[in-house]
Amino acid sequence: WQRDKLVADWCDFNQVNFIEHPSNGVVRKLRTRDDWKKHRDKRVSAELFPRPSKLPSPNDCQSDEIPTMDQLGLDARVLENRPKPGEVAALATLNSFLNERGRNYRKGMSSPITGEVMCSRISPYLSAGCLTIKQVFHHTVSRQRQVKVDPRSADNRGFTSSLTSFQSRLAWHCHFMQRLEAEATMDETAINPELDELLNRELDQRKFIAWRDGKTGWPFFDACMRYLTATGWINFRMRAMLQSVASYTLWLPWQATGTHLANLFMDYEPGIHWSQVQMQSGVTGINSVRAYSVGKQSTDHDPDGEFIRKWVPELSNVPAEHIHEPWLMSQVEQEQYNCRLGIDYPEPIVDEKSARKAGISMSYKAKGDAAVKRRAKIVFDIHGSRSRQSGRSRN
Ligand SMILES: Cc1cc2nc3c(=O)[nH]c(=O)nc-3n(C[C@H](O)[C@H](O)[C@H](O)COP(=O)(O)OP(=O)(O)OC[C@H]3O[C@@H](n4cnc5c(N)ncnc54)[C@H](O)[C@@H]3O)c2cc1C
Repeated sequence: WQRDKLVADWCDFNQVNFIEHPSNGVVRKLRTRDDWKKHRDKRVSAELFPRPSKLPSPNDCQSDEIPTMDQLGLDARVLENRPKPGEVAALATLNSFLNERGRNYRKGMSSPITGEVMCSRISPYLSAGCLTIKQVFHHTVSRQRQVKVDPRSADNRGFTSSLTSFQSRLAWHCHFMQRLEAEATMDETAINPELDELLNRELDQRKFIAWRDGKTGWPFFDACMRYLTATGWINFRMRAMLQSVASYTLWLPWQATGTHLANLFMDYEPGIHWSQVQMQSGVTGINSVRAYSVGKQSTDHDPDGEFIRKWVPELSNVPAEHIHEPWLMSQVEQEQYNCRLGIDYPEPIVDEKSARKAGISMSYKAKGDAAVKRRAKIVFDIHGSRSRQSGRSRN
């Protein structure tokens, strides 16, 4: 913000016309959150600018050749199912969601298996600037109007609730980006620093490396981390689990684990990312303590172990009855299923149940501290959502 003000002053002094054309919901110079939603809604619902018929350029303006990745010394990260780049591909992805893939969005978004298809998958296009939130909003509104005419028709069935849910998420996108506008140091400092200090998490290298490499010994967790590493994307609930396990169960500092996730995400968007990292680590003081249980997510979202076996091949012969807790297999079973614990696949890095419980109880204790509560009030004034859902995890 200070930098931007200096640039504006410089332009003013040098008589350069400096005009900002905001394409997202971030509102500058806001003193409180109270009116933010009004500004945001007005901005995204304003008419889209017409496509320019031509882009005039100054005469005799020569361009150097655009350097290749090699010339810049950059390597493209090898990703499975890398999305096609560009606006045409972005709009095709959005339209396939609005007209086909999104029918069971609400039900399908939570599992990494169904989420891959049923979530919109527009996030990398938004963060790379191939689509604006305003464009997505307008396309969604026009589909909502179409659905409203005949919500029970074969083409429209299921879409009413999907699209309402999707619109809420587009609003969250802007809500979290606004947080970074108000607090630019969110990648380093917790928005409730008193709470973060009391939690006093430590960077235990052994735990961090197991977490980072998807070698914790918790099959579903490892499958999710490896899937994310290979593809650059995973659905919301699994992102929340990856972060919350790091912070609550392994008690690792959120700055280190959040930076690792940021490097993996193809759709890294700092405002959303650091807000979510802090929320899922319980350092805001205004959100409920929510520590995901790997065991529960595993049985809820991959009951037969199909996803686990695909991404953790060490467990490919382990049957469904042992796939969620392979450490309970006898020696004979380990030999039988080609999965010797501590040799082919790690023993659990810690006992999940007791470590998670300890993390939750330390978090509640710290949250009750008087200075933490005082700070939480200030945090709410600056950052809190004014909608009724404010205490929930968002998704
Ligand atoms: C720890 C953590 C880190 C995250 N980091 C990022 C990030 O760097 N970049 C990013 O775009 N999203 C991030 N998210 C939010 C969310 O997981 C992704 O936006 C979503 O999974 C992207 O997939 P999609 O486009 O198919 O989502 P859809 O479910 O189809 O949602 C459509 C769009 O709504 C927005 N959205 C959806 N959920 C959220 C949410 N909970 N908060 C804010 N906006 C949301 C996104 O722009 C998304 O593209 C993070 C979530 C967590 C828990």
